Amino acid sequence: MLLTLCYLVGSVTFILGLKMLSNPATARRGNLIAAGGMTLAIAGTIFLYEDEGGHKLGNYGWIFGGLAVGAVIGTLAAKRVKMTAMPEMVSLFNGMGGACAALISVVEFDHLMHAYQSISPMVFGEAIPTGFLIIILLGLIIGSVSFAGSMIAWGKLNGRIKDFSFKGQHIFNLLLMAVIVALSIYLIGWMPANSLLLFYVIFALSLLYGVFFVFPIGGADMPVVISLLNSFTGVAAACGGFLYDNKVMLTGGILVGAAGTLLTILMCKAMNRSLANVLIGSFGGGAAKSGSTGSKDQGSYKEISLSDAAVVMTYANKVFIVPGYGLAVAQAQHACHELEKLLESKGVEVKYAIHPVAGRMPGHMNVLLAEADVSYDKLLEMEQANEEFSTTDVVLILGANDVVNPAAKTDPSSPIYGMPVLDVELAKNCIVNKRSMKPGYAGIENDLFFQPKTSMLFGDAKKVLQDLVAEIKNL
Ligand code: NDP
Repeated sequence: MLLTLCYLVGSVTFILGLKMLSNPATARRGNLIAAGGMTLAIAGTIFLYEDEGGHKLGNYGWIFGGLAVGAVIGTLAAKRVKMTAMPEMVSLFNGMGGACAALISVVEFDHLMHAYQSISPMVFGEAIPTGFLIIILLGLIIGSVSFAGSMIAWGKLNGRIKDFSFKGQHIFNLLLMAVIVALSIYLIGWMPANSLLLFYVIFALSLLYGVFFVFPIGGADMPVVISLLNSFTGVAAACGGFLYDNKVMLTGGILVGAAGTLLTILMCKAMNRSLANVLIGSFGGGAAKSGSTGSKDQGSYKEISLSDAAVVMTYANKVFIVPGYGLAVAQAQHACHELEKLLESKGVEVKYAIHPVAGRMPGHMNVLLAEADVSYDKLLEMEQANEEFSTTDVVLILGANDVVNPAAKTDPSSPIYGMPVLDVELAKNCIVNKRSMKPGYAGIENDLFFQPKTSMLFGDAKKVLQDLVAEIKNL
């Protein structure tokens, strides 16, 4: 009874936490509430769970040893990770979830085999509960794909693993999945004498599928893939919930599965691409990321000095700041907030335009600016910001590139054509801060940099912002 109550409270906190995560103002608290619920559910299981024979869990040394090791590694990793490396860490942790789900299936299959060992091989297959077996195999396959895929995504994001694909790989992947499904059906339907071996073959093929599933996907699409793999992990964990008749595990798994799926769909929508295109498009892959500046002759660009930029912004009525991946790389969020406060003290209205896929993960810019205490009501979503650019004097673009590239609207041959972008060119002036004329993640030129109302302000975002603040103070 008390354990059921723990699970109920845990489930409610998951839902509440997830709801609160949708707003930057409540996200931190939401995370803590859900973590509190998870702690309660884990503690309840450890201390209150009893099986039908009234036996408690036992194995406390192993359980607490594992908890301690995991907690130390998790805390250190979370404290040390750089904001730009966050997708990598999410991928790694997600992979661990998938591995856990797969290992649950391995353990439970072993239990099943032992439990039915005494039954004659003739009736063995019929005696085994089919539903149970299906869930074990689902958890095994989905968990293994999620684990192996997440590890490859992690390696690709930190540059340890290079893009790899071969002709006909998508057909190979489909065939591999067909073999996994066929073997699983055979195992469930017939439970042959070599079932254990067959089970491990399915396990190995699923791991292989995870590797080949992620290998050909382009570098820029990794966050979408991680979100998709995250939803796989959720489903695999829900399978564990079914196996153990554990309601909180089931609820948690379903929530992760649903949230991951919704996030995947939202990210695809924000880039105006289908999931199929993400999975087979190789967008932002090796060739595109080579750093070439393209062969098109864009004409010339003009530079602006720090002092001129300071004057233009100080005497403006309204300034929009567009943060991008470069702001995260430079860790320039605090300097950016300082500039915003300084301009406001001079009577300038300052707002931020947040593109949904600016940076390298969903909500990247919101998290970054929240860290620097930028007020949430200053952050305008793309649609709202686009309505205001025509009445803006200066747009200051800080380490953003693809999300302000007009080619997404005008050039059907561009790989980002159709992706909704910020209409910064509608403002009176655009000042673009980056370190060079190199392209952004999509690996393509940006016409905006060559337009007459655009001026380039080269340098590391943090240094440039600090210098701008000093210049404005001296005006
Ligand atoms: P981009 O990657 O297009 O551009 C970032 C720019 O920042 C670069 O051109 C780089 O130019 C500049 N930069 C790098 N370091 C610094 C620095 N220290 N100081 C100043 N500038 C710097 O970023 P965007 O945010 O515009 O676009 C995000 C891209 O990521 C899109 O293509 C999006 O589709 C993709 N993506 C995002 C996802 C998400 O969830 N957010 C998910 C999947 C993909 P230079 O080297 O010259 O300095």
